[in-house]
Amino acid sequence: MGTRLAELGIPPGPPERLVLDPDGQTTLRAVHRGYVEAGAELILTDTFGGNPIRLEAHGLAERADEINRRAAEIAREAAGPEILVAGSMGPTGALMEPLGSLTPVTAAAAFERQAAALAAGGVDVLWIETMSDLEEVRAAVEGARRGAPGLPVVATLSFGARVATVMGVRPEQAARVLLELGVAAAGANCGTGTPEAEAAIEAMHRVAPDLPLIGKPNAGVPRLEGGTTVYPETPEDLGHAAGRMLDAGARIVGVCCGGSPAHVRAIADALAARTDEG
Ligand SMILES: [Zn+2]
Repeated sequence: MGTRLAELGIPPGPPERLVLDPDGQTTLRAVHRGYVEAGAELILTDTFGGNPIRLEAHGLAERADEINRRAAEIAREAAGPEILVAGSMGPTGALMEPLGSLTPVTAAAAFERQAAALAAGGVDVLWIETMSDLEEVRAAVEGARRGAPGLPVVATLSFGARVATVMGVRPEQAARVLLELGVAAAGANCGTGTPEAEAAIEAMHRVAPDLPLIGKPNAGVPRLEGGTTVYPETPEDLGHAAGRMLDAGARIVGVCCGGSPAHVRAIADALAARTDEG
């Protein structure tokens, strides 16, 4: 969502603010529709930064409930009844103890509040993503379950260089913890791009062969070209990567930062071709 809004010329700032005004809502509906029309079977709400702790940095914490609920409603309107709406829950942006001052209790309470508002807005699943700290993942899963007891919860981590998160978590470790937490699905998103996501899925699949895995990498590592951020991997690249992620054990595939509707279309086409082949 963040990179797509930038691509469409929306001025920088927290993407969640768009939920609060009519023009922003129109933009969000159009973005969601673009992905649905490209063949997405699941879309994410504009709430990646919608955790109240993260919204605090933008002076929006008091509107956290409204932002998350409305964002879910907007995605649902665009998705219709057939397409799944996943409530995006990104990191708080604060460091957990002992490196920082965020306690598991405070973190879980913030995720609980976000999850409850997303559920009130009608999401089908809570989608914890771009995580790098397993203690924050635990707090997010706990909060999500308390805030929305009836909904499935999935969690993905962001693996970068040497297929570890910035906090040094390896995919094998992540898979063990996520198995223990009993999430509905787990995997890799964002990070540095498709090779790391493929490697992470392979590693997670070895540890947790029965856990449904998610591969949702960025379209490569962005570079700055003449003042604009460019993601190097083409739709065709992502279509090929989707096939490789399935071979590595993924059951849900998509694209994160830099993924346009054309990337989603290429992934959908690649999957349809495989289904045709049986
Ligand atoms: Zn990303």
